[in-house]
Amino acid sequence: MTATSTNSDLAQRAAHVLMGNYGERNLAIVRGEGARCWDADGNEYLDFLAGIAVNNVGHSHPAVVEAIARQAKEMIHCSNAFLIEPQIRLAERLTEATGMERAFFCNSGTEATEAAIKTARIWARNTRGTGHHKVIAFEGSFHGRTLGSMSATWSKKVREGFDPLTPGFEFAKLNDLESVDKVWSDEVGGVLVETIQGEGGIHPCTQEFLEGLRERCTERGAALIVDEVQCGMSRSGRIMAYQHLDIEPDIVPIAKAIGGGLPLGALLVKDEYGQHLAKGTHGSTFGGNPVACAAGLAVCDVLFEDSLLRQVGEMGCYFWGKLEELKSEFPDLIEGVRGKGLMLGLIMKKPSMDMVAIGRRHGMLFNCTADRVIRFLPPLIITRDDIDEAVVKLRSSLTDFSS
Ligand code: PLP
Repeated sequence: MTATSTNSDLAQRAAHVLMGNYGERNLAIVRGEGARCWDADGNEYLDFLAGIAVNNVGHSHPAVVEAIARQAKEMIHCSNAFLIEPQIRLAERLTEATGMERAFFCNSGTEATEAAIKTARIWARNTRGTGHHKVIAFEGSFHGRTLGSMSATWSKKVREGFDPLTPGFEFAKLNDLESVDKVWSDEVGGVLVETIQGEGGIHPCTQEFLEGLRERCTERGAALIVDEVQCGMSRSGRIMAYQHLDIEPDIVPIAKAIGGGLPLGALLVKDEYGQHLAKGTHGSTFGGNPVACAAGLAVCDVLFEDSLLRQVGEMGCYFWGKLEELKSEFPDLIEGVRGKGLMLGLIMKKPSMDMVAIGRRHGMLFNCTADRVIRFLPPLIITRDDIDEAVVKLRSSLTDFSS
């Protein structure tokens, strides 16, 4: 749809009718194609945010557009009281690609995490008896905004004011097994960890740490829940980021990129865990909607290709190298680079929220998380030329930021 209003008209109208939870917004993105998008005033942006790791196949990928249109003509919605073929096909596709065995579909990352926590709790109750409901989560974590996921989220900003939180969460330090052992008690029935923390500032788990969690969960009778909502769906260069580390989780919430831009989340589980979320224990009206699942199937066709996964690895290395060059050019501003594949953070030496607006002025979208981490989550179809262009825009942005 072509915008009929300007950025500032829309900002003024929004200020009257929308709630203020997203803060002040002054750009209306109205069109996207591949790695580019345009605002209501016609300005073009190189999109290195991709809807925060949603548009992994790029904006309006033709195969996704086609799949949505085809399915919408057949049927847009059907209750989960009935079998839905695209949902079954997508579950087959996702379980085959991830080593998981069953899927439950929902609409978002926070819902997938809620379902993960419920599955771990009921599995622990059914297999070990009551009193093993606790879940260990990690400092720096983000798992969503609903009450359960929010209670498993570390950030004070996310949790403050919403007391009482859901009880039953303990926090340990990421990549520190000793701190995990310190909070572990017989009450623990699950461990919830992001393979690469996104909102927390792009912190990947080490191999040793994830292996250590796997061993402890197996030995002590807890479910290992690996949150791949942001780092999954090929963003890291493997379909799921935990596949780099050669461990098998028990429960995996995913969302974001899976629906190609439509709201879709999923909980993937090993059968041993999934069977406990039995008849009547959980559900969703829209979860696994046929149109979203049809889009998901088209997304898998693109993202699960070996050539695409290789390209993510190559582009990730290339971009990392360019970011290191920027670090040498701006040693007073930049501390380092972190991440995996095309989930990269430029670690700044000072709070850098202002970089976001400066980047937009130079025609590039990215965001800033954990106060001083410039986060890049470009579409996975980006080319070397896109990265070269991004680096030019970043250089100009850093120059403005430093002056
Ligand atoms: N888990 C992780 C790792 C996330 O990054 C997010 C969102 O950023 C969520 C869960 C929540 O997803 P949603 O915003 O779709 O509810």
